[in-house]
Amino acid sequence: MPVKARIGLFGGTFNPIHYGHLRAAEELRDVFPLSKVVFIPSNNPPLKRDSIAPAHHRYEMARLAIDGNPGFALSDIECKSDRVSYTVHTIVEMRQQYAGNDLYFIMGLDAFLEMPKWFKTDEILANAALIVMARPPIEMERIKESPNKDGDNCRMDGKVAQIGLKNGKYLSVASIPPHNISSTHIRQSIREGRTIKYLLPESVESYIINNELYK
Ligand code: ATP
Repeated sequence: MPVKARIGLFGGTFNPIHYGHLRAAEELRDVFPLSKVVFIPSNNPPLKRDSIAPAHHRYEMARLAIDGNPGFALSDIECKSDRVSYTVHTIVEMRQQYAGNDLYFIMGLDAFLEMPKWFKTDEILANAALIVMARPPIEMERIKESPNKDGDNCRMDGKVAQIGLKNGKYLSVASIPPHNISSTHIRQSIREGRTIKYLLPESVESYIINNELYK
């Protein structure tokens, strides 16, 4: 029987992608481990509208950023579409593309805590295993705020906390050391004419300059 690969799906605006995203994805590959992390730049996210570069630029920057890492891949599933991207549609399509493998949907702790506001949350939780990235020490108090959690059903599995959900499945919370880099800070620095060197790959920095993004 063929061995199943463990595929992580890492969605985001990636506006622009930076070393915080890349390093977090690489750490997750190591900790779980995952065979591959697929970066999925969004099209028009329903909950986030501030100064978003066109999807084809964000996709191209992600392509440059992951170049040379065979453990990383890129999907245009969301950004090629004219529709607003909903996580549930993405997961269902990715299940077809990676049929026979195990899929893990990766998100930050803040995004997980916002999940009740998302479209068809129950369907997302029914279709995908979740990996939540949290800064160490894992803030159990905040996770306990989540309405998706099942009482105090929690256990530690190596560096990963397994949290019981109301649908009977487990959510994996991985402790990822923080990298104090954000796309917001990068965009602000560009607007103010300050340097963004060493916050993101040089190829992405050159792309931003050549295409006059975020001015
Ligand atoms: P913005 O500053 O524009 O809000 P962002 O980086 O927070 O950008 P996304 O590009 O949508 O937003 O992030 C994609 C995912 O990467 C999210 O789950 C977010 O929590 C995570 N992430 C963002 N920055 C870091 C970082 N420095 N370290 C680890 N994870 C990060």
